Amino acid sequence: MGDRRLLILDDDPMTGETIQRIAEFAGLEVYFTPDPDRFFALLHDWQPTHIALDLVMPTMDGMEVMARLAKLSCRAKIIITSGVGSRVLDAAGRSAAEHGLDIAGVLAKPFSPPQLREMLLGQISTAPPPPTVAIAPSEPPEITLTDLHRALDRQEFVLAYQPKVLCTTGELAGVEALVRWAHPSYGLLPPGRFIPLAESCDLIDPITDQVIDQALAWFGSLCVGATQLSPTTRDRLMLSVNISARTLTNSALFERVRERCEAHRVDPTRLIFELTETSAMDDPVASLDLLTRLRMIGFHLSIDDFGTGFSSMLQLVRLPFSEIKVDKSFVMTAMTSPESRTVVKFIVDLGHSLGLRCTAEGVEDAEILDYLNHIGCDLAQGYHIARPLSGQDFWPWLASRTYTIIRP
Ligand code: C2E
Ligand code: CA
Ligand code: CA
Repeated sequence: MGDRRLLILDDDPMTGETIQRIAEFAGLEVYFTPDPDRFFALLHDWQPTHIALDLVMPTMDGMEVMARLAKLSCRAKIIITSGVGSRVLDAAGRSAAEHGLDIAGVLAKPFSPPQLREMLLGQISTAPPPPTVAIAPSEPPEITLTDLHRALDRQEFVLAYQPKVLCTTGELAGVEALVRWAHPSYGLLPPGRFIPLAESCDLIDPITDQVIDQALAWFGSLCVGATQLSPTTRDRLMLSVNISARTLTNSALFERVRERCEAHRVDPTRLIFELTETSAMDDPVASLDLLTRLRMIGFHLSIDDFGTGFSSMLQLVRLPFSEIKVDKSFVMTAMTSPESRTVVKFIVDLGHSLGLRCTAEGVEDAEILDYLNHIGCDLAQGYHIARPLSGQDFWPWLASRTYTIIRP
């Protein structure tokens, strides 16, 4: 513990000293100053591993301090403290994280010593279990266009499937296919590492082609092989795939998807294309045209990450979606933030009033699942139910859910 150094910036000596005592007791070296200039000097000379920062001070505000910390590419873990309301604190925390700062936590004053201790010693008990489809831990490699071309040629893209279940009974309702790159030297890379590049250089459509083909083949086998599910449940299973905005101009791709559906004996009505709220709005007229055609073939459309984009509600109502997915940022915080809870309920009610099915993603514990059930949300997806699973790992997961073997 001796290698942890905490630097405190707080204009209130009482608070500063309290934090100092708790931190020293927890085994940290501590320096407390009420003076911003001194704070930045110490930051440079003493290189603290942790910072406790008061958000509201007379001579300099905490937001400015954070902006400067971000400019200095500060790597210390930051604990934000203040007497302002929790909404303001939460907003400050989010803004800091968006600046690339490492936020260990947000402490509303008066705070309890155990809370602070947990943030200082942190991340011991709360580490989630390793994902079943493990993501490569090593330093991110520089990915080039050539790498992506090669990956496509060698068919290195693999899929993980995350279950979607009914909030009421926990019964399996469908799966979302999530792409990973099984990189020969770096292991499994998450989509965030290569999808943006693929989108910017016109390689997203060939990737989507491979993704859909693989997903349909696997999904076809699920619908036939999941004999522990009742025939009715099996007949209702849905396959969701993510579609990038750029793909919405490629009607040939969707024509191919229709053919692949036939080849894999999957009815188009079992397929849901997930589009992000903003992607569908990029060109509302063209979107309306293609999306309507897709719906006429029988494909379903889902608005992904709902609540994070900035689109006109009117456009949204005009486009022929059949599902709305509440963004996980609201769902994950719903139990600790009344505001998030309000947003989740609002989106579910909005979805229902438009005749859409609602899925909440990012369901990480039983409590939020209860809440979702209580407000009438239809489907749930998240780590509490299952992490994204490889096609192979999906079967033991399904078998372990004994209560899915019900209903004639
Ligand atoms: P998304 O469509 O919003 O997918 C959900 C993401 O949330 C997945 O991340 C999933 O692993 C993660 N997740 C699921 N449950 C939980 C939970 O309970 N807690 C938390 N914290 N996270 C959860 P992943 O697999 O890294 O995918 C990231 C994004 O990459 C996806 O976000 C999607 O936008 C994009 N993506 C994935 N596959 C494809 C694809 O085939 N094509 C395109 N265009 N984009 C894809
Ligand atoms: Ca999605
Ligand atoms: Ca999403």
